[in-house]
Amino acid sequence: MENKGILCVVSGFSGAGKGTVMKALLEKYPSQYALSVSATTRAPREGEEEGVAYFFKTQEEFQRMIEEDALIEYAGYVNHYYGTPRAYVESEMAAGRDVILEIEIQGALKVKEKFPEAVLLFIMPPTAEELKRRLVGRGTEDMATIEARLARASEEAAGMEQYDYIVVNDRLEACVEELHQIMISEHHRTGRNIEEIHKIREELKRFSKGE
Ligand code: ADP
Ligand code: 5GP
Repeated sequence: MENKGILCVVSGFSGAGKGTVMKALLEKYPSQYALSVSATTRAPREGEEEGVAYFFKTQEEFQRMIEEDALIEYAGYVNHYYGTPRAYVESEMAAGRDVILEIEIQGALKVKEKFPEAVLLFIMPPTAEELKRRLVGRGTEDMATIEARLARASEEAAGMEQYDYIVVNDRLEACVEELHQIMISEHHRTGRNIEEIHKIREELKRFSKGE
């Protein structure tokens, strides 16, 4: 099977559990996946480390990254900018790992435009009520920000059909496994294995000629 990594975009409403699911996926399959670390102008949350959760940037630094074409995509989200640094994505894919971009919908659609072979996954909460419970339960945002994020979820829901797959994060373990199975299937797509097809055709030709 082809050994080049797949670019995998994961989106979902704030609080759906993207971060939790990605962490579990990487812990379970550390050699298959690499998680891209984004740049952002938002402030670090309690416990978020520079270069692990995000690369935390000032407005000016972020602007410079845009000008230097150092970002694959970037977007505004509830008062801040977020973007995907190019270098890590390219080197990890070349090394054969599936690179996951955990990004919001505008960025996801830009990635699909630039890289049509990317896989777009949308992680859903079981219900809207559970989404709010998780956002409040996480305790990292004030009520006004939670309301703004829920309003944004409503807008994002309008674009869900543009994704290739929907996965519900009800039981964490099941969600992780479904995601992994989707990626395995993607590696088996005919279009991602053209070289293998050509190789076996050549071999068969030589065989039938008795070489
Ligand atoms: P996101 O990255 O999508 O904003 P998080 O991963 O931070 O979401 O999860 C939001 C909250 O929901 C966290 O407190 C997390 O522990 C909780 N959570 C995540 N997945 C589940 C799940 N399957 N069942 C119950 N709670 C979950
Ligand atoms: P948070 O502030 O909760 O960490 O992230 C807010 C939103 O920004 C989430 O929907 C997250 O997926 C998205 N996001 C994180 N990094 C990027 C990025 O590099 N590009 C884009 N477009 N969105 C991102």
